[in-house]
Amino acid sequence: MDTQVLEKSYPVLGVDISTYSKEHFFEAVHSALDLPTGNGQPLFVVTVNPEIAIQAIIDNDFNQILHRSSINTADGVGISWAIRYLYGLHVDRITGSDSVEKICAIAAQKNNSVFLYGAQPGVAERASSLLKEKIEALHITGTYAPERNDLHFEDLPEPVQQQLREANVVFVALGAPAQEKWIYKNLPHLTHCKVIIGIGGSFDFITGDIKRAPLFMRKTGLEWMYRLYLQPSRWRRMLKLPLFALNIILIRASMQIPKSPRAHNMRQSHS
Ligand code: UDP
Repeated sequence: MDTQVLEKSYPVLGVDISTYSKEHFFEAVHSALDLPTGNGQPLFVVTVNPEIAIQAIIDNDFNQILHRSSINTADGVGISWAIRYLYGLHVDRITGSDSVEKICAIAAQKNNSVFLYGAQPGVAERASSLLKEKIEALHITGTYAPERNDLHFEDLPEPVQQQLREANVVFVALGAPAQEKWIYKNLPHLTHCKVIIGIGGSFDFITGDIKRAPLFMRKTGLEWMYRLYLQPSRWRRMLKLPLFALNIILIRASMQIPKSPRAHNMRQSHS
């Protein structure tokens, strides 16, 4: 499976991040959902944050998956900072939480169905009811909260397998890297799928089980701080953030080191 549709991407710690604008990203979703069922590879979206970029260094299987996804978007503020710092470019942040409702609206408009996989028992089901309240035409084939995040498709109850097979959009909420690994492993079974995306805690945000940070914190890139306040157990995961920043600063410094005099002389002698 190699579903690269990146137009232009920039590496951040070896992970290619797409510079799609939000508008362009949702156009890609539109195009994918316009395709007839079973035609071509599904659009496999990974929303990358600094934790994911660090994890990809230490987990080779995960790294390979990030090279085979269709679009890696800049989710965390750390990723958009790194792209600005390394390449002087602005990149729109495209997060799972901001995308679920919008993708559902596009799916409903195009008569495509969706499935909600993951999160704690009952959360995806409640999120499903709330989404249907907001988007009347939305067809949800089903929801499922697996007892383990590495459950294989064939181990799921038969009705769930059928609902997953029928869905044109599949949202997977198992946290990274489990959700991306689940997608990669099970995508061949999802025969009607056109768009698939790992969305972290988005169902919990939709149901209100976890509150999203106030808008000013989201806009100023402090959402991570708010989540740490709500879920202090995330502190261990947060240790990856300074490691990420340090790596980016070192890469930038190495980009600025002038070429050695020897290399310079060699080039001159050829001219
Ligand atoms: N989750 C799950 N199974 C697991 C671990 C996590 O279903 O083994 C769910 C969790 O309930 C939450 C979602 O995965 O709904 C995202 O978790 P996390 O907070 O790690 O993701 P983030 O939002 O930080 O990407």
